Amino acid sequence: MKETLSQPLKITKSTTTKINSVDFENINFGKLFTDHMFACHYVNGTWQQPEIVPYQPITLDPSARVFHYGQAVFEGLKAYKDSKGDTFLFRADENLKRINKSAERLAMPEFPEEYFNKGLSELLKLDNDWIKQGKGNSLYIRPFIIATEASLMASEANQYTFYIICSPAQSYYGGEVDVLISDYYSRSASGGIGYAKAAGNYAGQFYPTNLAKEKGYQQIIWTDSSSHKYVEEAGTMNIFFRINDTLLTAPTSERILDGITRKSIIALAEKEGYNIEVRDIEVTEIIEALKNGTLKEAFGAGTAAVVSVIKGIGYKDNKYSVPVLSDGFAQHFKQSLTNIQYNEAEDTFGWRTKVC
Ligand SMILES: *Cc1c(COP(=O)(O)O)cnc(C)c1O
Repeated sequence: MKETLSQPLKITKSTTTKINSVDFENINFGKLFTDHMFACHYVNGTWQQPEIVPYQPITLDPSARVFHYGQAVFEGLKAYKDSKGDTFLFRADENLKRINKSAERLAMPEFPEEYFNKGLSELLKLDNDWIKQGKGNSLYIRPFIIATEASLMASEANQYTFYIICSPAQSYYGGEVDVLISDYYSRSASGGIGYAKAAGNYAGQFYPTNLAKEKGYQQIIWTDSSSHKYVEEAGTMNIFFRINDTLLTAPTSERILDGITRKSIIALAEKEGYNIEVRDIEVTEIIEALKNGTLKEAFGAGTAAVVSVIKGIGYKDNKYSVPVLSDGFAQHFKQSLTNIQYNEAEDTFGWRTKVC
């Protein structure tokens, strides 16, 4: 549905700034937010006038449906600054498409592209000083939609709010991780909401992830819910394996989140002539490759860390180590992607957009 947008963005500037109290050298990711936020309410079947307001708490009725029936979807993207001080977004159009796909699956209204683009770029202009130069520094952007209607009726709401909040981020380096292949728990099922970036998909992951942590792993490699024979994702990232010189990743499906980092790596790999196979990956194939030494690398891919290198894989009662290469595929794709994001390489795919 294409709406005609007659409503201009309303901006209420904050009269104070928190920026001077921030230690940008020691950012605690996701705990600290910029001075402004974007909000747009959906009432009576339409999105109302979009607004930028000072960052502030929100007030909701305790019966707001988001609290009871979990109608909540979100996105995660970043803004980057180059050495001249220009600000860029990376494939933000894909994030809008995906939040609208997620919203559709949760019976929520789609958000108009014009409001998203305008709201996001104005927000980044207002809070531009929060985006620091230097490779690794960025502004993490979190759009989300929640069902705000006060009612315990177990059906979809008719009132929602779309927000965007922003949090400064430093080069995210969590170190290499050990991951446990799940042979019981699932993050999604066929016919379910795994492809949506829905809050509930995360809520369901914490408990099994804690069990894996007790065994010394940081994340779970999720497998298909019906047979647990196929590898699907790693924690909240898509997963890649390198067997000999072939890069492997699972095809997206209704159970797998269609990651923008994943598809960017696939596009780069294809363009650069890597052997890449997007196909079902059997757990037994990975275990075999771990045993015979043909598994050369494994890594997760997602916006937060770009790539997260896997150094160990557990399956049932066995743990196998995975080589960590300083000049492997993981490092190569991380470098190539961040070079595009920070305007340090030619953007042959047209992924980068200058905001200001
Ligand atoms: C967000 C997310 C990803 C990564 O997506 P990007 O667009 O690359 O950030 C992968 N898997 C899950 C489950 C996710 O929620």
